[in-house]
Amino acid sequence: MPPPPRFCPQCAARLSSPDGCDDCDWIHYRDPKVAVVVLATDEQDRLLYIRRNHEPAMYQWAWPSGFVDAGERVEDAAVREVREETGVEVEIGRLLGVWSETGDQTVVIAFRAAAAGGVLRPGPEALAAAWIPIGRSASMPGPVFPHDESILASILRPER
Ligand SMILES: [Zn+2]
Repeated sequence: MPPPPRFCPQCAARLSSPDGCDDCDWIHYRDPKVAVVVLATDEQDRLLYIRRNHEPAMYQWAWPSGFVDAGERVEDAAVREVREETGVEVEIGRLLGVWSETGDQTVVIAFRAAAAGGVLRPGPEALAAAWIPIGRSASMPGPVFPHDESILASILRPER
């Protein structure tokens, strides 16, 4: 996230708070960052993972994810992130949920997806990409981000 401004854009006073100006009525609206995470499976019910090539969680195995661009449809961002990171084309399925936390700027929107083509090949943001069997398999990577366990539970739970 960009650093907060040091001077008020309205009255040029030095800012003592990232939330706005004490000298005038300027308020610094800090927008949330919208991220998508995609739990994509293939026809063998394996989940798509990447080995992250950047912080946070560098070198960890995680689901394809990334920030939604301004003006970009959220589902399109999900498809794009999977393509960029893994080479796999997906069809976006149901919305798994929206995760957020007090004090955390990021709002995470998680989708189910199904493999629909492409070639598994890690992009520049990934050291590797792999299909890993779902379930209690010992080969399944552990949670990396705060909401991962809850997101995973949302796909292991039988649908009603
Ligand atoms: Zn001011």
